[in-house]
Amino acid sequence: MKDKKIIAYKSDRVKKIAYNLRGLIRDVTMSEWSRLGKEKEKIRSGKIKVTSLNGRLVLERTKCRDIEDERSDLYRALGNSICICSGCHQTDRDMYYNAAAEGWYCTLCVQEYRDFYHKKKRILDQGGFVGDFDEYFHKTFL
Ligand SMILES: [Zn+2]
Repeated sequence: MKDKKIIAYKSDRVKKIAYNLRGLIRDVTMSEWSRLGKEKEKIRSGKIKVTSLNGRLVLERTKCRDIEDERSDLYRALGNSICICSGCHQTDRDMYYNAAAEGWYCTLCVQEYRDFYHKKKRILDQGGFVGDFDEYFHKTFL
């Protein structure tokens, strides 16, 4: 994949379908993420019994860890997908892939990152203090 790539739909109909599909994928993913969290809590609290020849306590921990790994995988996959903006988590915007930042960002966030970079860089160049500013990250959007 290129270092930077923009996905922008010209047709309003295609745009609506794509945005609805992204929202649907986000909702289904987060629903499963929540369901797994509730299942983990039920196992942890003893409401769901996990039995094994090796002993219940060890298996509960293992099962809870497996569930948490699955939740993390789901969340990471959604966050790395084009379905949501890595900056604002919106699903209904043109998207921009930034390989250096390893993520998809909506074009509004990209413009904000660019503006923020220029604003902070101007202050830095004049010898000022800018506080918490990740110059490398923001520069990847230029
Ligand atoms: Zn965004």
